[in-house]
Amino acid sequence: MEFSLKMEVISIIIIGVLLSYYNERQKGVNLKNRCFRFCLHLSLISIFLNILAVWGIRFSSEIPLFINMLLSSAYYLVTCFLGELVTAYLFYLIFEHYPHHVCLKKSFTIIGIIFGAEALLVFLNYWNHWLFYFQDNIYYRGPLNAICYVGLMVDVIIVGRCYYLHRDIVSGAMKKAMRTMPYIICAVMLFQLLYRDVMMNGMVTALADLIIFISFQSNRIDEDYLTGLQNRGAFLEELTSRINRKKPFHVILVGINQFDQINRKFGQKNGDEFLFEIAKYLNQLNQCSAAYRISNLTFGLVCKNETCNHVGSCIETMKERFEAPWKIENTEYKLSASFSDLYWNQNEWDATQILERLEYALRMSKKRENHDCVHFDEQLNEKMERQKYVLEQLKDAIERKDISISYQPIYCWKDDVFCSCEALARLYDKNGELISPGEFIPIAEATGVIQELTWIIVEKVCSFLSGHPEVKLKGVSINLSMQQFLDENMVGKMDQLIKKYQVEPNRIKLEVTERTISQNIEKVHQSILMLQQKGVGFYLDDFGVGYSNLSSMLALPFETIKLDKSLVDKAMCDGKESRIVNAMVGLFLEEGYSIVAEGVESEETVEKLMKLNVDRIQGFYYSKPLNEKDFLEFLQNQE
Ligand code: C2E
Ligand code: CA
Ligand code: CA
Repeated sequence: MEFSLKMEVISIIIIGVLLSYYNERQKGVNLKNRCFRFCLHLSLISIFLNILAVWGIRFSSEIPLFINMLLSSAYYLVTCFLGELVTAYLFYLIFEHYPHHVCLKKSFTIIGIIFGAEALLVFLNYWNHWLFYFQDNIYYRGPLNAICYVGLMVDVIIVGRCYYLHRDIVSGAMKKAMRTMPYIICAVMLFQLLYRDVMMNGMVTALADLIIFISFQSNRIDEDYLTGLQNRGAFLEELTSRINRKKPFHVILVGINQFDQINRKFGQKNGDEFLFEIAKYLNQLNQCSAAYRISNLTFGLVCKNETCNHVGSCIETMKERFEAPWKIENTEYKLSASFSDLYWNQNEWDATQILERLEYALRMSKKRENHDCVHFDEQLNEKMERQKYVLEQLKDAIERKDISISYQPIYCWKDDVFCSCEALARLYDKNGELISPGEFIPIAEATGVIQELTWIIVEKVCSFLSGHPEVKLKGVSINLSMQQFLDENMVGKMDQLIKKYQVEPNRIKLEVTERTISQNIEKVHQSILMLQQKGVGFYLDDFGVGYSNLSSMLALPFETIKLDKSLVDKAMCDGKESRIVNAMVGLFLEEGYSIVAEGVESEETVEKLMKLNVDRIQGFYYSKPLNEKDFLEFLQNQE
């Protein structure tokens, strides 16, 4: 029978296209990708060898026998090797997340034995002609000619069995590939039965390469590479289609907490395996649709059922699961998760707005002590809208450098003079209404906007001091947040501004709270020392709000301690607390700190503080924070 090579030529084209597409994306970095690229090259070689061998047989009378034997043997060997390589690759994919699984080792051993036997047969064929031989320039099949196909059948059976036994641990991509395979195999067999003269060997290889490429290598745009779950884009699409159906639905977000610890403890690779395990668990929750990976550590679920208690039970189920450790191949660890949920019922929100709201609620859940689920309701919506509005106003004001400053005078009773003041940021919205720092400072801190805001204030304070030489204040306090210390260039910038406005550095006092310091004590310490060398002074602000770690706070070189209003108020009462405050003030004075009492509103308090020998007093009793003009007037009136 004369064989047609049409299909082999088409196969070369298919593999050529795959290779060029694959090379263009330069993905051959890890073992999996390098292995696939090698398979593609080997497929091409195998098909070329097949074509050469068939031509050799066709023109056997004109070609030396040893070349024909060599071509056919090489084809046999390469094809068998390719078959086993693809099988090994499939096993690797089945156990991708369990690289030390016993079945993987067993499978590799079986594959090795099969290929060893095939190679031996090819070698022995030179003498025993079991596979093929040439007689009178005619090619004959030997009794074991179909052994290569038998080997392939064995491979298919063991892959199929292994997949079936371990189907709960394989990725979604592998499942899809395994579901497609039988159809392709049946179609090829049917084709071969109908067109017996057409060579299909190359086509089988090309189709196998194609399926692997589509399933595992093509990185579908809506699929997450690590977990095999659908990604953020697909989640938004799902929400949009739900919204279009106009039926209420419930959405849940799950965020994994403190995952950087896992990566640090077990390494990135094991971290990925933990995420894969979690994704697998979330994806099979009965009460919910498939899971989506929204961002690195956040997963989204849409509930099948729309009732509220159903969502509650679903979240409870997940919380319970998170009570137990997650197991990966060589270790196990308990992970904590935060939850948020939202009920869509004909609201005006589109998919992006729903996700934005869920993420907002999830951030709140993360802040809660036991990470309880935060339900996004109307109240939260109002809060979020307000925060968005404040942030907008803040950014707007920063862009225009339109942050005003109020100065609150601080009284030095021993010298009977207002010797210093505190600069406090003031923000007005577009309607001229004041937004309190208590509201906008936390937003500025959470969004990082605080950096720019503080630099504007520092510049304004410097400009105020250099523009008013008649003001004899010993110091102006500026409040700092943690972000400032994370700015690598903080010391340089501060120095630059002080020089630009020719301000004596010791007139700038920077206030830092315990909360700020405890976030990164080393970094704060370093910056304080560097700025102190340049002459800038530091105050410990809000002392008494939480005496978490007094000794480490006092290890920092503060020149002044500011007693918070709450502590000052305690000093006014009789009893144990008051005695503690009194003793503490005495101790600070002994240690050489200067003390400022904050939030002083009455004469009685002033008298008490004077008795305690507190150095300076700040509060409404003397003056509220004043705008620049009023503050200058205030100082003038004191002279
Ligand atoms: P703080 O640093 O403790 O500032 C003192 C706060 O106490 C000011 O509130 C001031 O108006 C208020 N105050 C002063 N005397 C009295 C009094 O006698 N009674 C009462 N009840 N309150 C008094 P303000 O201006 O609303 O600022 C609140 C907080 O916002 C500040 O507390 C500070 O933590 C933060 N803040 C203000 N401006 C800035 C800034 O420019 N940067 C940073 N990072 N934080 C700022
Ligand atoms: Ca302060
Ligand atoms: Ca304070």
